[in-house]
Amino acid sequence: MLSLRRSERLCEIRKEESPNKNVKKEEKKEGKEREETCSTNKKRKRKDIKPNKKDKEVKRTKENYTKKKAAKSEDGETKVLSVFNQRILYYLKLENKPERVEKKSRKTKITQDMFAKRLSNITKYVGAHVSISGGVQNAITNSLFIGGNAFAVFLRNQRRWTAPPLDPKNIEAFRENCLQHNYASKFILPHGSYLINLGNPDQEKREKSYQAFLEDLRRCELLGLTLYNFHPGSTVGNCTKEQSIQHIANCINRALKETSNVTCVIENMAGSGNIIGSRFEELADIISRVDDKNRVGVCIDTCHAFAAGYDLRTNKAYEETMQEFSRHIGFQYLRGMHLNDSETELGSLRDRHANIGKGHIGLEAFRLIMNDDRLNEIPLILETPIGPDDELSDYHKEIELLYGLIGKKSPITTNCVKTHITEKNKAKRKSKKSK
Ligand SMILES: [Zn+2]
Ligand SMILES: [Zn+2]
Repeated sequence: MLSLRRSERLCEIRKEESPNKNVKKEEKKEGKEREETCSTNKKRKRKDIKPNKKDKEVKRTKENYTKKKAAKSEDGETKVLSVFNQRILYYLKLENKPERVEKKSRKTKITQDMFAKRLSNITKYVGAHVSISGGVQNAITNSLFIGGNAFAVFLRNQRRWTAPPLDPKNIEAFRENCLQHNYASKFILPHGSYLINLGNPDQEKREKSYQAFLEDLRRCELLGLTLYNFHPGSTVGNCTKEQSIQHIANCINRALKETSNVTCVIENMAGSGNIIGSRFEELADIISRVDDKNRVGVCIDTCHAFAAGYDLRTNKAYEETMQEFSRHIGFQYLRGMHLNDSETELGSLRDRHANIGKGHIGLEAFRLIMNDDRLNEIPLILETPIGPDDELSDYHKEIELLYGLIGKKSPITTNCVKTHITEKNKAKRKSKKSK
């Protein structure tokens, strides 16, 4: 709707600008473009002028132009400007580049006052997995809209093996945006491709995964990121878990030698079938085989843990789970968490994320997390389901909810998010309300 309105407006501007003698040239140049962009105008024109389309259209545009000029004359007299004067006006307008002004206003559409206010003096860094659509640098803007103090991103299309290299301009913009908006690299937790399986016993397939894994790590380094979160892998039913774990550790060791700064953060899994990493022991096993212990870590996904049988619902159950984590892995390896409720029951082994407080885990577990000092100073990332149109406000509400659980209610105002919702969504909401 918005773009249609814009294109209609552009058409009007062009019509206003077209002087008599340039009309034909303009028509030739912009004819195609007009036909594409002004579909509504086109339909109208077709109805009005079927035969001799070009001539009549030119005539119409001339008339339009003279009418507008007549209406706009400053001294109040309804005099029609001469063709010469119109032409001068046209070139003056060209010099002022009205179309560029349009573009500029489109660029500056996102303003600081649209961003949610972020909490300061915090120990819990809550945020969400945000989109990089339009360029990796947009992740920061998306996080700012929801008041995120941390964020996660995919570094490329997570369902494809190959991706074009990152644009140097986007890399620069990403780094600048992070600095400007105070997102330290330890609170940014990029997520690896779902295709990567470092535990695959098939050497050729594992090598393909390894190359994608290495490329992701290099992307992190280009962006100035120091954490990289990935799923450990699977035996694919063709080897023992121990063999698979050894493959994973070998790949991590190899990648750490080929890079210099990034920490490999292994995520716990929900644990069906041949998947590695549903038990804390398995994650600990991988870590024990990694040479550089400073550059390996763990991310606990609450939904995955719950599905794997780690209860978090009561104070007692939560403490037992955390003690088990501490015993097998240790909080010194905890580099981040994924905060997700679970659609399925304890020990279901199924990975189905639910919104905070709306699944089988329940709000109390998240209250315990938000008040657990062992989880300070790490990114706490939401990967909860989002509505088809309203992604940002959903995350925004959950961030607000989570901060509310430590008695520090976020000062975020709902206006911040509302401004970002597209015109289309606004219309939808209105029509719903009116019903
Ligand atoms: Zn994950
Ligand atoms: Zn996760």
